[in-house]
Amino acid sequence: MRYLILSDIHSNLEALTAVLAHVPEYDHLLFLGDLIGYAATPNEVIQRVRRLKPTAIIRGNHDKVCSGVENGDNFNANALLSAMWTKEQLNPRNLEYVRSLPAGPLRVDPLITICHGSPMDEDYYILYENDAYLSFQCFDTTICLFGHTHVPGLFVLEERNSSFYYFIPRDRFEAKLDLSGQTRYLINPGSVGQPRDYDPRASCVVLDTDQAVITFLKIPYDIGKTVRRIQLSNLPGFLADRLLSGV
Ligand code: ZN
Repeated sequence: MRYLILSDIHSNLEALTAVLAHVPEYDHLLFLGDLIGYAATPNEVIQRVRRLKPTAIIRGNHDKVCSGVENGDNFNANALLSAMWTKEQLNPRNLEYVRSLPAGPLRVDPLITICHGSPMDEDYYILYENDAYLSFQCFDTTICLFGHTHVPGLFVLEERNSSFYYFIPRDRFEAKLDLSGQTRYLINPGSVGQPRDYDPRASCVVLDTDQAVITFLKIPYDIGKTVRRIQLSNLPGFLADRLLSGV
């Protein structure tokens, strides 16, 4: 099976379009949350993802605030402004779709669990080894896919000696996985629509379970177009600037 794994699109239609053009064939689409918030094309992104009929999709923290499930008390000023703007833009069908997205973690199949932040808590950030170690206790599949930090990466836990390692993939990065159950993985595909690893290209992962290979991809897109849309929408200018720097 070939899985296309996307997270944190954040209303960026140009980035999503480029990713789908780059990876036209897959068996299952898995989405790890944060469809919307930040950029200027929320309805278009929701409609595109709905049409793709993901095998599994869960909500992110921005999806909750943009659809009124939560009030955004813990958001910074730019995030809250964009969430309020997004909520006003959403048409009723899309608003209802986002409101009804399930919380993670979600067990997709016997091999894969998905979550937005961590399998411990959908809003928790897995940044360091300690976060990963705690998170490994909270799922029972070989692989757990997570997003939320907008930084691609891979934690590996070898059950025999409890050691684990972290790689930050650069450009195209391919790794062979041990799917025998002796080794477990926490994998972050990075962000499609607002990368924060100093690389502004759209980030995603393809998992091939027949070959036991994971591929991290970096895909260029028309950032200038996304930036102009943000500038024309009265969204905070910072949200446009950060797309250019990728942080
Ligand atoms: Zn996000």
